Amino acid sequence: MKCKLCEWKKHYKKIYEDDLVVAVWDSPYVRGHVTVILKRHADNLTELSLEEATAMMNVWIKVGKAIEQTLHPSIINWQINCNWTRHVHGHIYPRWESDPDWGEPIHLPTKEQAHNKEYVIKELSPDDLLKIEDLLFHKN
Ligand SMILES: [Zn+2]
Repeated sequence: MKCKLCEWKKHYKKIYEDDLVVAVWDSPYVRGHVTVILKRHADNLTELSLEEATAMMNVWIKVGKAIEQTLHPSIINWQINCNWTRHVHGHIYPRWESDPDWGEPIHLPTKEQAHNKEYVIKELSPDDLLKIEDLLFHKN
C-alpha cells in the first residue's frame, strides 16, 4: 500500500514536477503555501544523494522565486520536515508583516480549529495562479 505522498495526485494539486521532486499547493490557510516533496522514500535529509538534494533545493528556490515575484510576501519561511511521512519534504510559507503571527513560526490550524472555521482560507486568485505557472514553465 502506498503512502499519502506517494499518492500525492489524489490529495494535492501539482505546481511543478521533475524526475525526482514534485511541488504541490498545500494548506489553504497560508496564502501561497507550497510543499516540495522528494518522490522516493527517504526518512531523513542525510539519506539524500547530492543529485536529490540539489534537485530539491533547485525546485524550492525556483518555486520560491515565482511566489516572490507574484505574491510579493514580506519574507518566505522555509521549513524542511521528515516527520509524519517517509518523504523528505520542504515547505514554502510566504509571510506578510500583516500576518497575526508575524515574527513567529507559522501556525497551521488543528483539525478542530479548521472544522470550527477559526482560520480563514486564503486561496490564490486565478490571476496569481496563472502568473506563477507562467514564471515556472516559461521563464527561469
Ligand atoms: Zn510514499
